[in-house]
Amino acid sequence: MAYFELRAASYPVTERLLLLAYLCSMPVPFADLASRIDPTWTLFLDRDGVLNKHRPDDYVKNWDEWEWIPGSAAAIARLTGHFRYLIVITNQQGVGKGLMTEQDLVHIHTQMELSVRGIGGELDAVYFCSDLSSDPEHQRKPRPDMGLAAQQDFEGIDFARSIMVGDSSSDMEFGRNLGMTTVRIGPDPEGALQNPHTDFAFRTLAEFADAVLAAS
Ligand SMILES: [Mg+2]
Repeated sequence: MAYFELRAASYPVTERLLLLAYLCSMPVPFADLASRIDPTWTLFLDRDGVLNKHRPDDYVKNWDEWEWIPGSAAAIARLTGHFRYLIVITNQQGVGKGLMTEQDLVHIHTQMELSVRGIGGELDAVYFCSDLSSDPEHQRKPRPDMGLAAQQDFEGIDFARSIMVGDSSSDMEFGRNLGMTTVRIGPDPEGALQNPHTDFAFRTLAEFADAVLAAS
């Protein structure tokens, strides 16, 4: 940076402004963000496609159908304590469609939380929206309702010190709507960064955890 400042000082004003604009448009390296994370930060996690594998054209309707993405449960355990809160935020309209009951869904989440606890991790809460997307009153992501509910329930959640990790554009929009940093999970991180609501991208939650912990 000192190099650029030195060179900039010798440029005419217009060119200095252009250089400044260029520098401001450069993406901030993830390590810069990760080094600022401390135990006042909150990590919001999408569920399907981040913690567990998607079931194509279907929903996880019971615990037998749950399949962890390798390394995801361990990633939660590794990040526990690094953040103040770890909170899952998930759209589950399979309930609204009548494919499972709310009780089935709560049972799945209880098993998920117990699995994480079994390897030394802790999820603070799971917020789900079982409304249909066709319901005009729904509170599904990317609407901010579930994030605002978490902020009501847990003292000290500051969205400027929060990260939303998800595998869909609606997760990125949800995080953006609340002023969080957004991280997209998926097989094509380069492509994911084309979405203007995505700040950073990793292939898996495990890789995200590696990057967070490498900077601490
Ligand atoms: Mg998802």
